[in-house]
Amino acid sequence: MMTLEQYSVRQIKGVSAPKEQELHAFGVHTVADLLDYFPFRYEDYRVRALSDVKDGDKATVQGVVRGMPVLQRYGKNKSRLTCKIEIDFLLVTAVWFNRHFLRDQLTPGRTIILTGKWEQHRQQMTVSESEFPEGAGSAKSGTLQPVYSVGGAITQPWMRKTIKQALQQYGAMIEEVLPFELMERHRLIPRRDAVLHIHEPGDIREGLEARRRMVYEELFLFQLKLQAYRMLSRKRGDGIAHLIEAETIRQFAATLPFELTDGQKKVVNELLVDMRQPASMNRLLQGDVGSGKTVVAAIALYGAVKSGHQGALMVPTEILAEQHMRSLTKLFEGMDVEVGLLTGSMTERRRRDVFAGLQMGLIDIVVGTHALIQETVFFRSLGLVVVDEQHRFGVNQRSVLRRKGMNPDVLTMTATPIPRTLAITAFGDMDVSTIRERPHGRKPIKTYWVKHSMMDRVLGFIRREVGEGRQAYMICPLIEESEKLDVQNAIDQYMQVQQAFPDLKIGLLHGRLSAAEKEQVMSSFGANELHVLVATTVVEVGVDVPNATLMIVMDAERFGLSQLHQLRGRVGRGAHQSYCVLVADPKSETGRERMKVMTETDDGFEVARRDLEIRGPGDFFGTKQSGLPEFRVADMAADFEVLEMARDDAAELCARDDFWDNPAYARMQAKLNRDQLFQGEQLD
Ligand code: ADP
Ligand code: MG
Repeated sequence: MMTLEQYSVRQIKGVSAPKEQELHAFGVHTVADLLDYFPFRYEDYRVRALSDVKDGDKATVQGVVRGMPVLQRYGKNKSRLTCKIEIDFLLVTAVWFNRHFLRDQLTPGRTIILTGKWEQHRQQMTVSESEFPEGAGSAKSGTLQPVYSVGGAITQPWMRKTIKQALQQYGAMIEEVLPFELMERHRLIPRRDAVLHIHEPGDIREGLEARRRMVYEELFLFQLKLQAYRMLSRKRGDGIAHLIEAETIRQFAATLPFELTDGQKKVVNELLVDMRQPASMNRLLQGDVGSGKTVVAAIALYGAVKSGHQGALMVPTEILAEQHMRSLTKLFEGMDVEVGLLTGSMTERRRRDVFAGLQMGLIDIVVGTHALIQETVFFRSLGLVVVDEQHRFGVNQRSVLRRKGMNPDVLTMTATPIPRTLAITAFGDMDVSTIRERPHGRKPIKTYWVKHSMMDRVLGFIRREVGEGRQAYMICPLIEESEKLDVQNAIDQYMQVQQAFPDLKIGLLHGRLSAAEKEQVMSSFGANELHVLVATTVVEVGVDVPNATLMIVMDAERFGLSQLHQLRGRVGRGAHQSYCVLVADPKSETGRERMKVMTETDDGFEVARRDLEIRGPGDFFGTKQSGLPEFRVADMAADFEVLEMARDDAAELCARDDFWDNPAYARMQAKLNRDQLFQGEQLD
């Protein structure tokens, strides 16, 4: 028998070839895809009492025609039709635009249902849709209408109509994927009902129940994928067993300009143990900003290269890629290790050279942005993938890179500590290493919170640090909605600083500069040719200029705690005493609370703990930048408990002896394979 995955959307009545093409843009190819294309909210066409409708809200109400309709025509095809309607004992003016044909239907005494925007003070409703309940048909009133994400030639009405049609033609063929025992345990409705109700809920309860079922399914399959994949890989031992001699590493460590801290040594050992195993490594390295994660990654990469493989280091920004490129090149000087750079803004020719070098094995280690996960990148033998600042990447981006090798070892690094249970839940059963201390001789960063009125003293601070030979950052906030305003803000600030210090060299860095310009500014700042760097948050993560000792954050109340801590982490990277000055006049309680936390501690783990306390877990997990997986129906924050439940269920199921061959699980496994959840691997 054919399954819904085998029917093209063209089979649905009303889907033409051009429409089919448009649907592809939404990732919808088959009937199954379309049926799984869920609405992200509902429009409420249920009739409400007018007294419950707030001024300016859109609502559906029912009334009786009381007056004679008045039609005004203007322009070519424009018209305005008004009529008095009695709604809940109130005489209201209903207004239609360009619906002149309705005039003849508005006979006094007739019942009518109106949907529109309510204006309280004028006792008026601007009607967007209306219908007479006695003439039924495709009545929307009384229902919840699904709202899909649409665009291009795909309109909301078309999508609604087409999905309705698909449900009629194929709804009966929707199959269950969850094992019966789990559905019973959690009282989940069958998949067929859930899909039907999620598109066309009779009432809110039905919609919610359908959603609950689909949320569980999504999270459960996600967990199953993580856990089964890991188990499979362990069982097979099909990762790379690197051959790394302790002596090789010792010799390399001896060439470093500093001695590794105990924390770094411990983590290096943990990595080497994992890398020598035949199962592939999946390890998260947590370490506060400035704790020295890069050199740990460099050692692991060196080990991979010396055992005959290649390494890749993926970072979130070009600035960071260039910086890591420079520092790795320096670290590996005279070691016979070839380092390459791959970013989106490189010329096609230079890129092609890198592609070739990687494929032929001429490049041992490549440092790059997400350009690394392009399809055209092939490795001769990728042995270790390092993802720096992992919270900036989506889960898919990370796994694509992993797939470029034969189960390479994976090390992800972050300065934003994630509670262990959450990490396991979100990333699967990964091992976690932690660096707690900073390198010897580092003094704690002194943090101050000042009002804007003290800006003169802040400028005096810059003068003093520069006088000592040090450098300063000045960060201008990100205005979410407008990168343009952002940049203007930074430019203004830059000019003010320049005016204040005509004798100093001031640099400017923001997202609108070309990659070459950014690189130019960063390397001048790195070489101490600029005294002050005025920047937007483009320097937020990873940037390492040890001679910089002063971080000034303008309008600091606009940043979240973890972002402020990241910014502060740009200083305190050398032996000199460093300072962070937060310029802020926060109006909100939480704003003041954040400034307080920042001045009280410079320990990232403590900052994260307080952050969690202030924001609550929902908000903490809810941020886009957390690097947590994004789901179609489920919401990491709202559905966290379901995720934990799904995790336990998946673990229980995976551990079962008959997991791989019980026919009761066949559909579920087939679905995992189809969704490529097993990352290209077939379950056998
Ligand atoms: P992060 O963990 O934030 O990525 P980095 O790896 O950028 O930190 O390291 C911060 C700075 O500390 C760098 O300039 C690096 O060279 C230096 N560093 C790293 N390890 C040590 C160490 N053991 N002793 C002294 N300096 C170190
Ligand atoms: Mg770093």
